[in-house]
Order: sequence, then C-alpha cells, then structure tokens
Amino acid sequence: MSPQRSGQQFLRNFSIIAHIDHGKTTLTDCFLRLTQKAGSDKIHDRMMDSNPIEQERGITIKLAPARMEYQYRGGSADQSVEQLVARLAEHSTNQTADQSVEQSATPSSATPEPGAYILNLIDTPGHVDFSYEVSRSLAACEGVLLVVDATQGIQAQTLSHFEKAQALGLKIIPVINKVDLPSADVEGAMFELMELCQVADSEIICVSAKSGQNVQAVLDAIVERVPAPSGQPEAPLRSLLMTSLYDQHRGAVGLVRVVDGELRREKLQFAVSGVSFVPVELGVFTPSMTPIESLQAGEVGYVATGLKEIRELKIGDTLTTAAERATIVALPGYKEPKPMVYMEIFPIDADEFTFLQDAVAKLALRDAALQYVGTNSAALGSGLRIGFLGILHAEIVLERLKREFNMDIIATLPSVTYQVVTRDGQELEVKTPSEMPDPSVITEIREPVAKLTVFTPVAYMSDILNLCRERRGEFVTSTFVGQRVYLECSLPFAELITDFHDVLKSISSGFASLEYQLSGYVAVDAVKVTILLNHEPIEALSFMTVREQAEQEGRKLVSKLKEVLPKQMFVIPIQAAIGGAVIARETISAYRKDVTAKLYGGDVTRRQKLLKKQVKGKQRMKKFGKVEIDQDTFLAVLRRS
Ligand code: GDP
Ligand code: MG
Repeated sequence: MSPQRSGQQFLRNFSIIAHIDHGKTTLTDCFLRLTQKAGSDKIHDRMMDSNPIEQERGITIKLAPARMEYQYRGGSADQSVEQLVARLAEHSTNQTADQSVEQSATPSSATPEPGAYILNLIDTPGHVDFSYEVSRSLAACEGVLLVVDATQGIQAQTLSHFEKAQALGLKIIPVINKVDLPSADVEGAMFELMELCQVADSEIICVSAKSGQNVQAVLDAIVERVPAPSGQPEAPLRSLLMTSLYDQHRGAVGLVRVVDGELRREKLQFAVSGVSFVPVELGVFTPSMTPIESLQAGEVGYVATGLKEIRELKIGDTLTTAAERATIVALPGYKEPKPMVYMEIFPIDADEFTFLQDAVAKLALRDAALQYVGTNSAALGSGLRIGFLGILHAEIVLERLKREFNMDIIATLPSVTYQVVTRDGQELEVKTPSEMPDPSVITEIREPVAKLTVFTPVAYMSDILNLCRERRGEFVTSTFVGQRVYLECSLPFAELITDFHDVLKSISSGFASLEYQLSGYVAVDAVKVTILLNHEPIEALSFMTVREQAEQEGRKLVSKLKEVLPKQMFVIPIQAAIGGAVIARETISAYRKDVTAKLYGGDVTRRQKLLKKQVKGKQRMKKFGKVEIDQDTFLAVLRRS
C-alpha cells in the first residue's frame, strides 16, 4: 500500500488508551473495517490480539501497530448531523444534543484538506506490568484516543495512561464507547472525563464500537485534531525503537517510529547499545507485515534486523545509520527492562530440566523482558530463576510453559528484589530468599515500594483503605469525583504480588481498579524464614517477610505442612527458623500412611482408583532427606491460602 500523497502533513500517529474491556480491540476492528480497501487484508475479529492467551484474557501483551489509509472527506459537518440524529435517537436528553451542536461548531485550528491520510494506530499493552512499553509507544504518537466505557466510567488504568499522554504533550481525543448499551451512563462518563481529565464536553465523541455508530467521526477527529509529525526529513536518521517482536521467518524485528531522516536498507546502528546490522526487510503493518522500500520521517513501521536474539533490541533505543551514529543525539527515554518479581521453577521430573531450559529460552526469544539464570536447590534439583515485570507477566509465562510446552513444573512463591547492605559495606541485590545472606552479616534490608492508585466507588473506600493498612500500606491522598474516589497509597511491592488484586476486586464487588508503579526502596525490618524438614532446610519453601509477621506465617506454613504431609515410619520435626533460631515447630508422627483407611469398605471402585492414584503420585515424589513429598503436597503448601 502506498500513500497517494507523501509528506508528513498527511500522516497521523495515534494510540488508544483504554482500561481492559472498554473496547479498544473492538474499536480497532471497526477502524480497520472502515479503512479497508479492496484486495487488502481480510479483517477478522480481534485482529490485533495475536496470542491465544491474550485473546482469552482479553489483554494485549505485545504492541502491534496498524497502518490505515483513510479518505478524509473534509469538515465534520456531515458526520455531525448523522451523529446528532443518532445520538438524539439513542440518548434523548436535550443536554447531549446541545453538546453535539457545539462540537460541530468547534473549528479545528489548521483545517486539513480532503483526501487520503495515513493513520498509524500504535497499540499499547493493556496491563500495568508493561507500563514502560506503554510510555515508549505513546512517545511515538502525536495524539491519543482516551476511550471510556459508558457503563463503567473512568478506571485507574485509564487515568494513569492519560497522565503519561498528557506529560508527553499529546493531543487527547476523549471517546465514550458502548453508548448502545441500556446501562450506558453517557453523562456520568462525560462528567468524569471533564473532572478528571479536564476535557471540554464539546470534544467528547460518543460511539458504539460494536455497531460502528459514529466511529467515522473518530477517524475524522484524528485527522482534524491530531497534529502531523514534525520531524526533519533531511536530517540524519533518528528512529525510536518502540518494541520488538520475534517473527518465525524474519527473526528479531524492531517496531520503530522514524523521527528524523529516512530509514533505508543500509547499515544501521543503535545509538545506546551500539548493536549494528543491515536490515533484511523494512515494512509497515496493514496490519499484516507488508514490505516497503523505505520509511520516511514521521512514519511507523518495522525493521527486520536479521539478528537472532530479541534482547539485542533495547526498547527505547535510538536507531540511526552506522555512519551517523557518532553525530546524532539519542532520543530520550531509554531504560533497561527491570524485573520486579522473581520465581524459581523446577521440572517435576528432574530428567526434564533440559527440556524446561529450552522452553524458557524459546519464550525469552520473543520476550526481551523475561530474564533467567540457572539455579539449584538441594530439594528440587536443577531449575531456573526467572525475573518478571510483574505478577501478571509471571502468570502468563507459567501458563505458556504449561500449555505450549506441556511442562509440569513446581514454582516457588513469587518474591521481590531486596537491597541488602552487609557488615562489610557491600550492597547486594537479593532476588530470591535462597540468596539472602545470614542475618548476622546484614545491617540493612530495603524493599521496593509501589505508588498505588485505586479508583473506586466511594462506598468501598473504607474497606480498601483497611486492606491497604493490613498490607503495610500508607494512605497518601484522595480525589473525589462525583460518586467515586481516586485513592493514592504507598504499598510495599511484596504485598502487591500476593493476592492483593483479587482481594481488592472481591471487597469492591469488582468495581475498584488499580494501577501501580515502582516509587523506590525503603528500609524494612524483614527476615528470611527457613523451613526445615527433619533438620534439613527446604530452600524452595523458605520466604521473606517482615519480622513481626514471621512467627505467625512460619507457624501457618509449618502446620500446613503437617496437615498435608503423610505420616512417616518415624517421628519427623518440621521447623520454621530465622537464622539459627527456631520460631515454630510441629512433628509428623510415626504411622504408616494408608490413603484408603478413611473410606468405607463398600466402595470398591473408589478404593481402587485411589490406590492407582497413589501409585502415580509415587512416581512424582520428591525426596527431602528421608521424607518424600509429592507434587500435589508441594503445590498445596506453596499455594498460600
Ligand atoms: P479491550 O479489552 O479494550 O480490547 O475491549 P474489547 O474490544 O475486547 O471489548 C470488551 C467487550 O466489550 C467485548 O465483549 C466487546 O464485544 C464489548 N464491546 C466493545 N465495544 C462495545 C460497544 O460499543 N457496545 C457494546 N454493547 N459492547 C461493546
Ligand atoms: Mg483488547
């Protein structure tokens, strides 16, 4: 596809900001349909959600841009009449009608001329774990659509993305979606947009992405309101690496926004990392990958690098030519992806370790944020320690290992990175409890703390503040907007990665939403609790916690272990300890286990089934000293109730 007219004035780069389920994918499908040309890609539903887990969870993990050619008819008068009529029919309040009239009367500052425009929709990932990529993709745009579900109103994620867009000076086009639903509260959503995002009501566009109603007005608004890119076409090449993906045929592919100059198939180099290559292909997303000769200033597209490793492409880096690298100033915003949550994983069957390693390596090939190193546990054998961006990222990776690679794994509890200062003045980064030095050599432990924002109906506010307090959080500030409140708290990351989100959802009947970002490291009186079975430590079960909760949590885990462990041939102590000091103790009594003992004699099939299951369980036993623990027992213990 080639534009009929060239030049940056016919280009628009924009992104969609929306909370999960507010309709970003549906609206994108709608745009693709409206701009579809004969002979181009067939549009199917959820075109942009490529991974099955993404489709299931309804979230986008990887960014994907889409290039659309839109025939702008000039002026929004026609649509505004349609829009007015449609809106009058749907929402018959006089107030809404007035706002439409106002909207059509608002002149755009630099009136665009009718004709073909290239609209680049740059997708952003839909989850907090990926917020760095969100800011990189927003940095590649001049405008954003702020989409709000008329039945839900603004959510925490909408706001945090909005703040990012605003900080970058982007033009914001507010869109209220799902106006077709009987439960839509268009006025409520408008009120929130005006209060929280300071948009004028005349700028708000009401649509139904499902029926397509008024969606064309959004495309017109993009042409009219979003500024054209303003890079220098003649200057040395500078392009921003927004994200990377791995393509089976093309290898590591960079998604770039050309800022200045022209991107051609010549020797290219990254300004920060210094990695160089000659591209094997340049192209644009229509939304499938379509080769193109070169990318001009202002354009968005992909560069197939021919590199094997996706981690050679550092998101936020500046791509330039090898010849000009020394002279250009790198674009701002480069940052290493920083894992926040660590887990150790082990194959249930120790023989499968190489298989596990291969599987993780394959995933890491496509996911530059995934970091891993080998680890070893006396109890569980060889395994991997994996760093994730957040708990959702971790869940997705573990699920992929299970589904796509059929891996049976044991994962330790997720843990945050602690900064540990030792007596000899060293500052260590401790990623898992197993790495924690002995308490006698530690002078200070610091833990990561998140700035947490929660958006909730006022009715749930006190329960939510209680939850934050229980989890060692501190209230910072609140902003009331009608019947809802925007809360800001500071909360230790370690508390956030357990079941915080689930509990928040359940105490607010699903109405509260949250966002977080790392705000820094703070000193904490934390200790490592070691679990000993028959006097041997089981590293995989040891955990970090604050001192005042150590005894209680140690006791809980120890009694849980006693509950799930089979009785043994001899008496075995289960202990929880901090350093050398035992803080909780139970014993497993000597008694041969008979799993069928509890059953009544009559049920023969059930008895047989159970025995069979026991035999199967045996094959998957893990030996701890003289004690054997099967996989289910282990999981039962690790799953903190
Ligand atoms: P995303 O998570 O922001 O990408 O949201 P989706 O596009 O996946 O939409 C979430 C759900 O809302 C889907 O079931 C859509 O069919 C539905 N939906 C999206 N837009 C509309 C709309 O305008 N009207 C109605 N009734 N449903 C919609
Ligand atoms: Mg989506």
